[in-house]
Amino acid sequence: MPHALFISDLHLSEETPTTRKRFLEFLSGPAREAEALYILGDLFEFWVGDDDIPTPFNRKIVDALAALSASGTALFIMHGNRDFLLGTAFASACRATLLTDPTELTLYDTHTVLCHGDTLCTGDTAYMTYRKQVRSSAWQRQVLALPLEERHKMAREATDMSSKAKKGKSAEIMDVALHTVTDLLRKYEFPRLIHGHTHRPARHVYHLDDHSCERWVLTDWTATRAGYLYCDSEGCRAIPLP
Ligand code: MN
Repeated sequence: MPHALFISDLHLSEETPTTRKRFLEFLSGPAREAEALYILGDLFEFWVGDDDIPTPFNRKIVDALAALSASGTALFIMHGNRDFLLGTAFASACRATLLTDPTELTLYDTHTVLCHGDTLCTGDTAYMTYRKQVRSSAWQRQVLALPLEERHKMAREATDMSSKAKKGKSAEIMDVALHTVTDLLRKYEFPRLIHGHTHRPARHVYHLDDHSCERWVLTDWTATRAGYLYCDSEGCRAIPLP
């Protein structure tokens, strides 16, 4: 049956070779059968600019993504809070389409909205301020003009800061804010919502104004768990990878 697959939050880096191996197997395995693969953010633990494509680690991933698109699976990539500097050179190197956040589409007759998920975590006001800064084109132009080495250093510092900051934040603050989710569902007239980011894979159902809406949260990929969401005309289901 025609179907599409969704993944997010692989956080690929040299430090997690097992996850990269799993991902490459996924690309040459289940992803080949799909009409489309949607990567909803944080494919990479960090991305410092498209001039970093040639490093062997990145090259291998880009080539595997390009091979998937060449095989006939349409590839869509959305930015996450870690890899928001993925640019048009990256997209064309892997023959992918970059998606804006949020993206609205009709998927096998079901009205669907896709987002990374960080914009739903409005309880984390410190992050929302940081996001506004790093998503501005002025900031991005300034950073991308720095030498590659310096950007790598910044990325390492940002990763350290983010893991320190996480320790001081409550579980509620790091999850989606319910009112932000319901506002979005109302704004888009009660779609199915698919996102990642929170690392809390689940299917939620909301009953709002006589409508019921599903919210699918994608799993992150770690040494101990990984998986994808499979959607066809009958609906979606989460499939774990062995
Ligand atoms: Mn994220």
